[in-house]
Amino acid sequence: MVEFQVLRCSKCKTFQVMQVTKSPKWKCKLCAEKQSLIKVVVD
Ligand SMILES: [Zn+2]
Repeated sequence: MVEFQVLRCSKCKTFQVMQVTKSPKWKCKLCAEKQSLIKVVVD
């Protein structure tokens, strides 16, 4: 089962849907800002 999470970049404020991974960090596709999973919005 594949789970997805909605994340918001703390730098450019854009929402991105990403597949849930084991990594606690993610990288914004737009500004390439590395950040931890702070904003997780369940759809
Ligand atoms: Zn960003």
